[in-house]
Amino acid sequence: MRTLNGVDVAGLSAALLAWWESHGRGGIPWKLLPDGVRPAPDQELDAYPIWIAEVMLQQTQLAVVLPYWQRWMAAFPTVEALAAAPLDQVRLQWQGLGYYSRARRLHESAQVLAGRPWPTTLEQWMSLPGIGRTTAGSILSSAFNTAEPILDGNVKRVLARLQAHPRSPARDQKLFWQWSERLLDARRPRDFNQALMDLGATVCTPRHPTCADCPWRCNCAAYAAGDPCCWPVTDASKPVPFQVIGVGVVLNAEGEVLIDQRLEEGLLGGMWEFPGGKQEPGETIQTCIARELEEELGIAVTLGDELITVDHAYSHKKLRFVVHLCTWVSGDPQPLASQQVRWVPPASLKEYPFPAANARIIEALLGRLAGGNQAVGNRDAA
Ligand code: SF4
Repeated sequence: MRTLNGVDVAGLSAALLAWWESHGRGGIPWKLLPDGVRPAPDQELDAYPIWIAEVMLQQTQLAVVLPYWQRWMAAFPTVEALAAAPLDQVRLQWQGLGYYSRARRLHESAQVLAGRPWPTTLEQWMSLPGIGRTTAGSILSSAFNTAEPILDGNVKRVLARLQAHPRSPARDQKLFWQWSERLLDARRPRDFNQALMDLGATVCTPRHPTCADCPWRCNCAAYAAGDPCCWPVTDASKPVPFQVIGVGVVLNAEGEVLIDQRLEEGLLGGMWEFPGGKQEPGETIQTCIARELEEELGIAVTLGDELITVDHAYSHKKLRFVVHLCTWVSGDPQPLASQQVRWVPPASLKEYPFPAANARIIEALLGRLAGGNQAVGNRDAA
């Protein structure tokens, strides 16, 4: 008998699968056959929609991902269509999901995968950019019912509570993988992995687990201890740095606005944005914007009104974008710190992929222009 800390694994699996049959999340389109029913163990699913969904689901919830996935599948219905699409079109479909390097990596991977049989091993999937073990395991078990375990955030939480583990999952990754592997039902790995994720997403939730509905309640050490929310144990988090970014929305005499495309490497690589940069200590925001435009584009501007201030939190830092309208004065814009720069009519901005904070700047700009307040009031000259 295979056990996990003395508990019969087959019994845990049977209880979980029985719960999932009636309470699992339905209607996940990439987990269903074309006629809308769950596949039997010997039936395969198309790996393409699953691969796209699994990459979108990395650190993003199912409800958020669903409409993005639907739009993506309409735009790029096959891996060949994705491989043939321009990278900017791919980024446009990803716009709003964050972690933009994932869109570029999907596009890169599509060049490798187009016109070939789908990879069928963990190693083959993990050789693709941006695919880790849990994404690879989830694709393989979902598409081909391959017996590969998974370890996403939901699964880590469930396992940490089941075992009342005294250290954070991050510190004991290997052990958590062993547990996930040992629990996996080799006859129904697709269903088991999905059931485990569904349990974490709907019952064993971070702040309000509904243990009364849980099929593992009788074997759960955290439940027995009386306060499941004490698990998973977390490590003390580092303080998140805060920075102010001065941004210039530069308009020329033709009413065009200046945008630049970030370098491919680094945060938000390849996305378009309004130029700007970090405020230095002791610097006013106007001086910061004028300096950044001069340093990064080689242009001089006249600073105008504040257009908007946008706060945006990334996983590792918080930024405040203070955005001013500017009037171009002199200098041919150069991509001194970007891939390219472009003057575009404001109405065309929607054709370029922008990060979320810039999307709010666009909205403010279009609103200001629609209000007829196109004049840029002078405050400071660069
Ligand atoms: S009994 Fe409660 S804490 Fe334990 S696995 Fe189930 S929902 Fe999570």
